Amino acid sequence: MTLNRRIVLASRPQAEARLDNFRLETVPLPALQDGQVLVRHHFLSLDPYMRGRMNDSKNYAAPQPLDAVMIGGTVGEVADSRHPAFAVGDKVVGMGGWQEWSVVDAGTPGVLRKVDVSGVPLSAYLGTVGMPGVTAWVGLSHIIEAKQGQTIVVDAASGAVGSVVGQLAKARGCRAVGIAGGADKCAYVVEELGFDACIDHKAHRDVESLGAALDAAAPQGVDGCFENVGGVIFDAVLSRMNAFGRVAICGLISGYDGQALGIANARVLLTQRLCLQGFIVSEHMPLWPLALKELGGLVATGRLKYRETIAPNLEAAPAAFLGLLKGANFGKQLVKLL
Ligand code: NDP
Repeated sequence: MTLNRRIVLASRPQAEARLDNFRLETVPLPALQDGQVLVRHHFLSLDPYMRGRMNDSKNYAAPQPLDAVMIGGTVGEVADSRHPAFAVGDKVVGMGGWQEWSVVDAGTPGVLRKVDVSGVPLSAYLGTVGMPGVTAWVGLSHIIEAKQGQTIVVDAASGAVGSVVGQLAKARGCRAVGIAGGADKCAYVVEELGFDACIDHKAHRDVESLGAALDAAAPQGVDGCFENVGGVIFDAVLSRMNAFGRVAICGLISGYDGQALGIANARVLLTQRLCLQGFIVSEHMPLWPLALKELGGLVATGRLKYRETIAPNLEAAPAAFLGLLKGANFGKQLVKLL
């Protein structure tokens, strides 16, 4: 009998999420039924959206049930199959959750997808050539509608989404300005990823200081804001938006533990006639194939770079996740399971 180790949601956070909100369990794997596939997970993706699912409050998706396996994207290998479309050894991406194995009803559309690892490493299908990469692609191309010559600003710029936003913006002939936490992240964003400039938000902690840094980094003002963080950073970027600028609200991570997020510069929405749109990448499924084709091609040819922070095993997942919510990750946060 194969045993499966998994992490479940033990309790809901009151404010900041804590290690004791999670519980590690060992359970036997059920026998495979017709139409099912057994997947051995190699990597688990840790993503900020999981924090929202831990709460029982109004959101765009249903809350994560208590005592159930934490939701999460996974890549791995088919270990056994009773579905004709999947064979032992196939590399697959799915939503296996925080566990070492998953039994998948492979006939359900969209739950399991075979991936080609000849040019793209398996782990990249959870990052640059996966959900975060598609998020960057959709937000930049279809929400901001970035055009050549424009200035695009993105925060959490060294991360899974932000790193792709800036590199795609450069590829589309824009000026790309990042905002990231710390000198190391900023150096990476400019020197490795090719952004034109990057502002260290830890060295500029208020709207005035950040605004002055933006004046230097974006002398023509800001045409497109790809918002991942919210709070003071968002306020500062808003204050530098050009007329008819476009804002893609992708994430507001600085408020995910329940902090209030005000917009002091709301007046700019009117005076600069801005367009703000929140978006959820899973609601743009028709765009995914096009996005994945471009992202996969760019990664395979070395034109789209990325960095990963890898936690060593399942036990390390909760601490790595809490670290992600505070900027401890540098690039895409993964957990190595095999
Ligand atoms: P990242 O890899 O960018 O990791 C999160 C980063 O957020 C941290 O490294 C840190 O970067 C930054 N951060 C965390 N807390 C704060 C804070 N209080 N103030 C400032 N920065 C903070 O994560 P992802 O790329 O996976 O996600 C980025 C954003 O995109 C998130 O808000 C996420 O929720 C959102 N998202 C939205 C999707 C959608 O469909 N709308 C889909 C996928 C992601 P630093 O140290 O540089 O500040």
